[in-house]
Amino acid sequence: MLFGYLLPCTVIVGGFFGDEGKGKIAAYLAMKDKPDICVRGGNGPNAGHTVIHGGVQYSLRLIPSGFVNPSTHLLIGPGVPVDPTVLLDELRKTDSEQRIEVDNQCAIVEPRHKEQESRSDHLSKKVGSTKSGVGACNAERALRMAKLAQQIPSLKPYVGDTVGEIQKAFSENKKIIIEGTQGTFLSLYHGTYPYVTSKDTTASAACADVGVGPTQVDDVIVIFKAYVTRVGEGPLEGQLDRDEVARRGWTEFGTVTGRERRAAPFDFKLAKRAVQLNGATQIALTKLDVLFPSAKGARHIKDLDKAAKAFISAIEKQTGVPVMLIGTGPKEEDLIDLRAVARSPRVRTAPIVRQN
Ligand code: GDP
Repeated sequence: MLFGYLLPCTVIVGGFFGDEGKGKIAAYLAMKDKPDICVRGGNGPNAGHTVIHGGVQYSLRLIPSGFVNPSTHLLIGPGVPVDPTVLLDELRKTDSEQRIEVDNQCAIVEPRHKEQESRSDHLSKKVGSTKSGVGACNAERALRMAKLAQQIPSLKPYVGDTVGEIQKAFSENKKIIIEGTQGTFLSLYHGTYPYVTSKDTTASAACADVGVGPTQVDDVIVIFKAYVTRVGEGPLEGQLDRDEVARRGWTEFGTVTGRERRAAPFDFKLAKRAVQLNGATQIALTKLDVLFPSAKGARHIKDLDKAAKAFISAIEKQTGVPVMLIGTGPKEEDLIDLRAVARSPRVRTAPIVRQN
């Protein structure tokens, strides 16, 4: 198949430490490619995704960012811990009660999980947990003691067999987007342990979370920001001091906790590792406009200056994967989409060096 738009099953994951702009990329793809299903994999409401759609800013912790397309069916896979209070609030805010399905096997985050995490000095002080109760819930699930969504009366109208839905969609050749959370290096297995989240966050895990097998996936989009940020504790190679971060205009605050993020320049070595760990077939690069103000609002590659193009080429060269989506502003439509260019989706060895 020529490399056009969305292939039947695409996975979206963060390539660094989260906050790469997954929400915006997922929302863009949902509007542009019109998937039949957007399914949330990844961890629970300790994740936060920002979507700006129709002039409204949404901070989402559980609902798939693809909710922006009213014709897309929204699912939450069985591997995702669900906090009913957060979910019900988001369903109201996004007006998506009629098209959401939560898997009956999702583990439930209870108030006592949050209390447990707040009481733990290890999590609060050392690891820098968001204290959303997700880690405690995952631990309880591993012990086979967590409650499941099918046991919660307030979730009754929304609970079902999401895996069955997805597999039916495959048989009908429908388009599916799987949304991961956090970032590759916050993975329990592949990240900077113990400064990580409570489960794996790579594309393979996102697939397992929603009941999709490895051979059912067509494309994996790994998202990088044009610089690296990290909230909470843990190593950050090349970390700049606060004043320098502010001077460069890279100051950011966490979606869930409001904590100020630490920042460092783009890390090519980490990017290459993320591409490998996720089996990425494409890269989405966000916040190019923050690094190169002349890129602000650009919609075409020809609108970028030489320095910005050289940066993109360097990423492609060093990772061996093409940059297909480029974020040039906070809004969903501030984006350069290069996917219309015919190209094999599985180019891993031949980097694309743009001449124009
Ligand atoms: P997520 O968890 O990966 O979705 O990331 P965040 O919740 O931290 O959201 C990233 C923020 O950056 C949001 O406010 C987005 O609107 C914004 N954003 C995303 N892409 C771009 C971009 O290309 N340029 C600019 N200036 N802002 C962006």
